[in-house]
Amino acid sequence: MRESCGVFGIYAPGMNIAHTIFFALFALQHRGQESAGIAVTDDDGIKIHTGMGLVSQAFTETDLALLQGYIGIGHNRYSTTGSSRPVNAQPIIAKSGGMTIALAHNGNIINSKLLRDELQERGYDFHTSSDSEVIANLILASPGRNWQNKIEYAMRRLQGAYSLVILTEDKLIGVRDPFGVRPLCLGAIDSRWSIASESCALDHIGARFIREIEPGEIVVIDSHGVKSFKKENGKKALCIFEYIYFARPDSIIQGKLLYQAREAMGRILTEEYPVDADFVMGVPDSATAAGIGYSNASGIPYCEGLLKNRYVGRTFIEPDQRIRELGVQLKFNPLARIIAGKKLIVVDDSIVRGTTTPHVVNLLRKAGAAEVHLRICAPPIRYPCFFGVDMAARWQLIAARKTVPEIRDYLGADSLGYLSLDGLIRAVDLPRDIFCLACFTGVYPIPVQIEMDKLALEALPQEELSETRL
Ligand code: SF4
Repeated sequence: MRESCGVFGIYAPGMNIAHTIFFALFALQHRGQESAGIAVTDDDGIKIHTGMGLVSQAFTETDLALLQGYIGIGHNRYSTTGSSRPVNAQPIIAKSGGMTIALAHNGNIINSKLLRDELQERGYDFHTSSDSEVIANLILASPGRNWQNKIEYAMRRLQGAYSLVILTEDKLIGVRDPFGVRPLCLGAIDSRWSIASESCALDHIGARFIREIEPGEIVVIDSHGVKSFKKENGKKALCIFEYIYFARPDSIIQGKLLYQAREAMGRILTEEYPVDADFVMGVPDSATAAGIGYSNASGIPYCEGLLKNRYVGRTFIEPDQRIRELGVQLKFNPLARIIAGKKLIVVDDSIVRGTTTPHVVNLLRKAGAAEVHLRICAPPIRYPCFFGVDMAARWQLIAARKTVPEIRDYLGADSLGYLSLDGLIRAVDLPRDIFCLACFTGVYPIPVQIEMDKLALEALPQEELSETRL
């Protein structure tokens, strides 16, 4: 499993929309950097182009010129289920019984193996190892008089997280799973409609944010306008990590600007873990707002002690461990002349495996920092995620194996403070029961996940198993 993806869709009669989708994907680049793709239609079949790497690497001007159409979808991928290879790039095209759809997915389907086996028995072909192809084929295989009926039927079978944009020959459809784990929102440019993982993509293409697509909602956009179909689930489980790390600080989710939520995390960290220091700094870019919040609340000046090379990918979501470790050294350069001899409060978004943070602390110490006090915007992550985030197996999570003082020593910090769960909820300023908090609490919104956790534990080497069970 890996991290989130970014999805985008647009319905814009009279416009050629490939470049608009390209720029929207550009705005959603932070959600996935392994591959990108665009599918469009203009009443003459669905055309698609996918490529590996960043959006700017995946498309040439010629590729975009060939994507003529007024309805389209796009995707930035981080592999969740399915490995990182060209065939798994999205959108996925699926065909059956004279129907063709393109589908782009953000999330992770927990029961995809079971569904895949069933569909294969019914004669459906699979060309990728991705769970997104399972969703696409399941929709095609589902009974129903129209797309909405087919999707509703498929949703009853799907377990897990899915924010989808779907392209048929004449419709754009947005779908959000009944728990609403991943965000999805609706926007408009004049009388044209768009759907995006985050509102920042709408801003960049000049669209107005209209509203979030609700958990369990299907939005169908075609020549008859926008129609919404929705069944209440009762329980919501929006991933709290959208607020801590995944989403861009200029996006708005559940009416909250992410920048302000992160700034509040920093302020509350000041209350929970005050310490005397010369400077506060946030590990750029995801903890910058929280660092400013800590500084504002404590009165300790903020300083940019680490400069980031913005052209190196996000280390947490790099595809393999070796690149992840090398990436830390390539990514940051400390401002030695500013921080030498100073006591620093360093605010970071989260600690997952604990592979990145010791390098950051070490860089600061080598640059002459007298003290390094770490403050983290999330509680300790002790449980893996089954909703499409690569938190690693449980035994790889540093907080599942070590106490907070042990982690502090391992990271080489002078002190370590994790934001409390109550503090996090207070910072986000939304009801606690709308969130998935499972990686902190081990309480999963869908019970089957616990079974998967047990299976994952049983698959571990024995020495790692005993350590994890302690
Ligand atoms: S387990 Fe954690 S990372 Fe996964 S969806 Fe829930 S809150 Fe998000």
